[in-house]
Amino acid sequence: MPKQFLRVRGARQNNLKHLDLDLPLGELIVVTGVSGSGKSSLAFDTLYAEGQRRYVETFSPYARQFLDRMDAPGVDRIEGIPPAIAIDQTNPVRTSRSTVGTMTELNDHLKLLYARATQLFCRGCAAPVRKDTPDSIADALFRHASACDEPPRALITFAIDVPENFSNDEVEGLLAAQGYTRLHRRAGRRI
Ligand SMILES: [Zn+2]
Repeated sequence: MPKQFLRVRGARQNNLKHLDLDLPLGELIVVTGVSGSGKSSLAFDTLYAEGQRRYVETFSPYARQFLDRMDAPGVDRIEGIPPAIAIDQTNPVRTSRSTVGTMTELNDHLKLLYARATQLFCRGCAAPVRKDTPDSIADALFRHASACDEPPRALITFAIDVPENFSNDEVEGLLAAQGYTRLHRRAGRRI
């Protein structure tokens, strides 16, 4: 795809002196210069103003009355300008934790999008993470077992705390009565 440009011709907003300039779209562009050289006149009063003005024009006349209208900038022609968002340095909600995403409230929408439209993969092994049920776990175990050459065996473990008012032997007896055949005593535990 050929590179697209935002073309400004004859910009004369505020102190700009018939500026012609081509800006590549889809790239980060920094406008620098000494105080009074027209950085804000170009970025806010020309590019943002025109992007916003054309965006607002896409709404019906009824909806437009609720939106902020900006004056058309002093410029002969601007081509290829997309809808614009501006965040200026006097934004009162700015804190050390503000980002472009939080200041524009895009973050709120992105959080919803990422939570719903994405697939989570394990950081360790890159397998897709999915929600299991007891049935899906059993299915996976049986599928795995049938692929083994040796007779399948599964070891299912869990910790048991011995309540204060029971002895180890009593708890062992209760577990044995439920069909458990092996107990492993961990250091620091009573069973
Ligand atoms: Zn994993």
